[in-house]
Amino acid sequence: MPENQLDTGGTLTMEFNCWFQCINGCSGKFGLNEIIYNCPDCGDLLEVTHDLEKLRKRSPQEWKDLFEKRYRKHDWPYGSSIWGKKELVCPVVDNENIVSTYEGGSNVFWAERYGKQLGLDDLWIKQCGMAHTGSFKDLGMTVLVSMVKQMISEGKNIRAVACASTGDTSAALAAYCAVAGIPAIVFLPKDKISFTQLIQPITHGVLTLSLDTDFDGCMDLVKKVCKKNDIYLANSMNSLRIEGQKTISFELIQQFDWEVPDFVIVPGGNLGNVSAIGKGFKMFYDLGIINKLPRLVCAQAQKANPLYRSFKTGFEEFQPMQAQKTLASAIQIGNPVSIKKAIRTLKQFDGIVEEASEAELANAAAKANRTGLFCCPHTGVALAALEKLVKRGEVKKNHRTIVISTANGLKFTDFLSSYHSNQLEGIESEYPFEPVELPADYDQVCDTILKEFDS
Ligand SMILES: *Cc1c(COP(=O)(O)O)cnc(C)c1O
Ligand SMILES: [Zn+2]
Repeated sequence: MPENQLDTGGTLTMEFNCWFQCINGCSGKFGLNEIIYNCPDCGDLLEVTHDLEKLRKRSPQEWKDLFEKRYRKHDWPYGSSIWGKKELVCPVVDNENIVSTYEGGSNVFWAERYGKQLGLDDLWIKQCGMAHTGSFKDLGMTVLVSMVKQMISEGKNIRAVACASTGDTSAALAAYCAVAGIPAIVFLPKDKISFTQLIQPITHGVLTLSLDTDFDGCMDLVKKVCKKNDIYLANSMNSLRIEGQKTISFELIQQFDWEVPDFVIVPGGNLGNVSAIGKGFKMFYDLGIINKLPRLVCAQAQKANPLYRSFKTGFEEFQPMQAQKTLASAIQIGNPVSIKKAIRTLKQFDGIVEEASEAELANAAAKANRTGLFCCPHTGVALAALEKLVKRGEVKKNHRTIVISTANGLKFTDFLSSYHSNQLEGIESEYPFEPVELPADYDQVCDTILKEFDS
């Protein structure tokens, strides 16, 4: 057997045990192939727990060598940056059931010019939107849909997979189910997602329900529908997705030659991703692959900021809220499902929560785009938070800082188009820019060009 395929085959799979367990430490343990989302004792969320003792049988250096050998190579499925770390993510799925689009391995962009404008020397943008469906949601969905295929192959009764979404989860679920040939249903809040995000499930031929409610309303409905109808729930309360998303941290460490950054900033809505990123760093730490932890920053839109409000009370209190309309539509969530996980994570990582107003997020995205990025509004929220932390002196010139860009700006061109034509209500665009319409006339074209460069 080739050395880099140590996870395959029944006996070797058993070498790396993992199971679902309650986040509050209740005693039940459940197989990853069981259809269960909540603890039967207390009703709270489950998380995937790995047997670290078994994983520690390999030294940190052996893990690093294995990951390096597989990274972005052709040997399927290990070239996917998720499945290249299969033993730490989801060892119990058979390779023949893996549903992958070669996810992960996204670039870290050195924001040299944007960083200089803020006074930072070591600022990087992790481009998680450079993905099959244009957002980081692919990272979790490959794990979830692979486990569904595994369960179906074992004879489990699953008629379809469903999710509520602010647009990117549904796009990822639709694509991965289309790849696998598994029926899917998406629950979307009407008129609250981008045009591209709506077209994605449509073109994959997935039942698309456009509902007259917000995300939180869709979430309540999909939970009820799944419970009664042999439909598997794909929202991030299903912690299989967290396992895939935690590889963002694995990958960051690997991309920086196993060095740990000082700050990682991520926009948060349902708060699965900030929890996942923490989980990834913690796991590498527990395995001795890294020897310190970064500080984590979660950035929220001011219009949907329940975590920020809780942070302001020192996490003593938490109140769900009615999320208001925000340009950062993928994080327009007032009652985040992963709130407990997120708070626990932020406490562990000396965490900070920041918020951004609509004007702040829009102008931060536009400012960064002038330096060659192409940001979605959620990345704008994270950048606006960064700018505040720099002003406060928390993030300093030489701190290695990573901003997680969660989606591809191409999914949100409506936002940029309205911004540059100064048509966003209540927002003064600091970087407006519009095409110049001219007749195809040499003199007029030259005049226009010269005028632009004289000023
Ligand atoms: C889902 C999503 C987020 C928020 O992630 P959570 O895990 O819900 O906190 C942020 N940005 C984009 C683009 C997303 O699709
Ligand atoms: Zn419990």
